[in-house]
Amino acid sequence: MTITIWWIRRDMRLEDNRALQSAAAAGSVVPLFVIDPTFASASDARRAYMFATLRSLNEATGGVVVLRSGKPDEVLPAFAALVGASSVHMAADFSPYGRKRDEKVRVALEQSRIELVSADTPYAVRPGTVVKDDGTPLKVFTPFYKRWLGFLPEQIADAKVRFEDRRELSEGFPDIDSDVHARWPIGEDAVWARWTQWSASQLQGYNDNRNIPSIDGTSQLSAPLRFGVLHPRQLLQHLGSSEGEDHFRRELAWREFYADVLFHQPETTWVNLQTKMNVLPVDTDAAAKARFAQFCEGNTGYPIVDAGIRQMLQTGWMHNRVRMIVASFLVKDLHVPWQWGAKFFMDHLIDGDIASNNHGWQWTAGTGTDAAPFFRVFNPTSQSEKFDPTGEYLRQWIPEIADLDNSAIHAPWELGLLAPPAYPAPMVDHANERLEALSRYKSVSGK
Ligand SMILES: Cc1cc2nc3c(=O)[nH]c(=O)nc-3n(C[C@H](O)[C@H](O)[C@H](O)COP(=O)(O)OP(=O)(O)OC[C@H]3O[C@@H](n4cnc5c(N)ncnc54)[C@H](O)[C@@H]3O)c2cc1C
Repeated sequence: MTITIWWIRRDMRLEDNRALQSAAAAGSVVPLFVIDPTFASASDARRAYMFATLRSLNEATGGVVVLRSGKPDEVLPAFAALVGASSVHMAADFSPYGRKRDEKVRVALEQSRIELVSADTPYAVRPGTVVKDDGTPLKVFTPFYKRWLGFLPEQIADAKVRFEDRRELSEGFPDIDSDVHARWPIGEDAVWARWTQWSASQLQGYNDNRNIPSIDGTSQLSAPLRFGVLHPRQLLQHLGSSEGEDHFRRELAWREFYADVLFHQPETTWVNLQTKMNVLPVDTDAAAKARFAQFCEGNTGYPIVDAGIRQMLQTGWMHNRVRMIVASFLVKDLHVPWQWGAKFFMDHLIDGDIASNNHGWQWTAGTGTDAAPFFRVFNPTSQSEKFDPTGEYLRQWIPEIADLDNSAIHAPWELGLLAPPAYPAPMVDHANERLEALSRYKSVSGK
């Protein structure tokens, strides 16, 4: 019997998994997960989510997932030799690190005459596919989206998989001390149950409710999508043409758009996509570092900013509207480089994805793809009043101000001596910092 390896990466599911199907079509499958030393830099929350998900996948396979630690270009050839595998099947990774790693693995396997088969991607449409008529990449979301719709894949039926039981070769699952199970649905069944429950009650109203952080208005499926517990093409199958469903489809496409941008311009992971923004003055001195540290604790004195940061620190997830407000505050009120914020988010998010995160930051910072122009500065107080009018979200994450009524909770400092003493005063004055941001922008725009 031919033995093949399914190299599990961002495709932790059994259903509609083309890498697994490709391995199964070629032989009897050993599912392998490689614990890469670089995982040490992922957030504790993301690692906990990943290992909990892997455990669930292991149970779904009957316990045959093999875990091995080490550099993938060393582990894969050695393990393939150990089990006598003739090919390794995977879903391609498009992050700059993932592309380099996979190339090294391909070369290392080739030396042993073992084929590395790239049979799927984490996206409905493979990055690099959607281009203009002249073959160049699309730089703006809406035209990308219109073309992307024309490439959506057909669903294909899963064939039966025969697993090979080599569990004796596996290292044990690491013990993770985390409440990840209490917070998130883990594994394919639980994630699909979440989708079924959420989409039945919320999808039609997604358009209106997706900006309100106090309600269950968004799917909270970003981490399962990040780890491939479900694939976007599976979700797309469930979407009709109502306004809510259309909007949800667009949001899935943003994820694909950013992956596409990074595929064509991998250097924009950490440098401005709009190079003209390179001359924008930013603060990086000791005072800026101290302000950044205060921001990272969720103690800016602006409740909506602090609520978002505390939500992320406690749960590993933050609502999209609040991510935008928080990112805008860091870049335009504290004037520090967006890269500091992007790293901070990657250090804490369970859905941390280098393309969506770093280009989400660039979008907000006005340095990225059809970005919110730099001169459009979010006002944290009016954003809070608009999107959390009852203050429910603020009360949930900031107990120090939970007793304030709706008229005071968005700007507690206005109470003067009656402001809750346990909550900090604003670390900067938004009106002044907005003007400062606009004046710095003049050095870029010349106006
Ligand atoms: C500064 C900043 C950083 C971000 N970092 C990440 C990140 O690390 N990982 C990540 O998955 N998303 C990131 N996003 C995008 C977005 O905030 C999250 O995808 C979303 O909040 C996840 O919640 P949800 O699953 O309930 O979203 P829903 O509203 O239910 O959307 C469904 C899915 O569509 C995708 N999606 C939605 N909005 C966006 C968007 N703006 N960009 C890209 N994909 C989107 C996600 O996969 C999401 O799960 C970031 C946005 C900003 C502004």
